[in-house]
Amino acid sequence: MRCDECQEKLGLYWDLPEQDDERTAIDRHLLDCPACAEQLRLWEESDLIIRSLSEDFEQELDDDSYRMNRSVMDRIYADMEHLRPVHERSYRFTASFRFRSTALIACCLAIFVSGLLFAIFGDWGSSAQNMEPMTGLLETASAGDDGSVLGGEFYAQVPVASISDPFVLKVVPTVPQYWIVFSLFGVIATLLLSNWFARTRK
Ligand SMILES: [Zn+2]
Repeated sequence: MRCDECQEKLGLYWDLPEQDDERTAIDRHLLDCPACAEQLRLWEESDLIIRSLSEDFEQELDDDSYRMNRSVMDRIYADMEHLRPVHERSYRFTASFRFRSTALIACCLAIFVSGLLFAIFGDWGSSAQNMEPMTGLLETASAGDDGSVLGGEFYAQVPVASISDPFVLKVVPTVPQYWIVFSLFGVIATLLLSNWFARTRK
């Protein structure tokens, strides 16, 4: 390893795992290159300084002026709750709001669960089979006759000269799967609303 390569990687040295190939290569180079060893020492030193500075800063936060600042802000927040930063807020809801939102969520959950059960265990196949085959042919009646009606099936079975089979439109009953989407939408809207309530003035 050359010196410039080594010095490039010194910044990552402590992040590398103990058995890493690069780390052992750096170690080997440091053994017979005092210049790079000195460089590593400087890195180490500045790292220590940065650490001690940040510790000092945290200690400073505990001193009197910080506490006074804190108490003033707490007084302000006590009067004007809506000014409090969101991450410091304890979410307090009135009993009636909690009851109503619980009821709403329970409704959404019930709709979701029943929709899910219907989607899994619902009788989809038989309802499609029970449907009359829809051929697109209309029932016809003849005015001069005894009133007997020739059904659509009659004409459907009469061989008709045509190039292709008549186009048959298959209509599948639409099952209200969209209730699942509605209930999910409801849950998401409830969460967003409760977040929004927390930000507004009481
Ligand atoms: Zn070197």
